[in-house]
Amino acid sequence: MTKSQLVSREDQEAFSAITERLHQIEYQIGEACAKCGRDRNDITVMAVTKTVAPKYINFVVEQGITLLGENRAQELTEKYDDYLLKQENIHFIGHLQTNKVRQIIDKVCLIQSVDSLRLAQEINRQAEKRDRMMDVLLEVNIGQEARKSGISAGEVLPLAESVLQLSNLRLRGLMAIPTVEHPERDFANMEELFHELQAKFSDSASMDILSLGMSGDYPLAIEHGSTLVRLGSAIFGPRKCVL
Ligand SMILES: *Cc1c(COP(=O)(O)O)cnc(C)c1O
Repeated sequence: MTKSQLVSREDQEAFSAITERLHQIEYQIGEACAKCGRDRNDITVMAVTKTVAPKYINFVVEQGITLLGENRAQELTEKYDDYLLKQENIHFIGHLQTNKVRQIIDKVCLIQSVDSLRLAQEINRQAEKRDRMMDVLLEVNIGQEARKSGISAGEVLPLAESVLQLSNLRLRGLMAIPTVEHPERDFANMEELFHELQAKFSDSASMDILSLGMSGDYPLAIEHGSTLVRLGSAIFGPRKCVL
């Protein structure tokens, strides 16, 4: 922010609170890495941008955040033009209907929420039309909760097999949201599942992303092998308003 006189007092306070939170997060990640002997550079911090105004999103990018995560196709479409980061630094992380793939495919470089063969096929079809590759993760409903989307643990290897047949998709790994009650158990199960996937497809794919951990549990996720933590409120503060 060079033109500081044009920034409202409220925004200045918001920016300094965000800066403080980013420092906190770095500290926590450093502690978690030290605890389990991991390298900080093996973990990517994603800023989850739902309900957050572009000026704050662009601010964290200026502070060094290199990856954004969007939940809703419509919100992404509305805010995209105002972002400093573009397609190659944005993932889609929310539930995706097949008829919305077209809207977002040119605005993201990876879709984390593939939860059916039908969706994978549609992403593949749209990618093929554009003559490009699309990276995807499979979303796992690891706690088998009725309210959450994602495939069951047992469906991971069969769906991975099918996705690997699709010419314009590149399967990069897994994503999950754990249960509130048993995050550690769920993270441990995801870690095991990810290792199985890596072992099974080690020849044919670069399976290198385990997307686990949100604001309330990312240090624990790091201890269980997460390579990508998805942080919303830990960066931007509590979500006050819905866009
Ligand atoms: C909202 C959201 C997050 C971030 O949630 P916080 O608890 O605010 O960090 C991460 N992943 C997904 C899929 C989300 O929808």
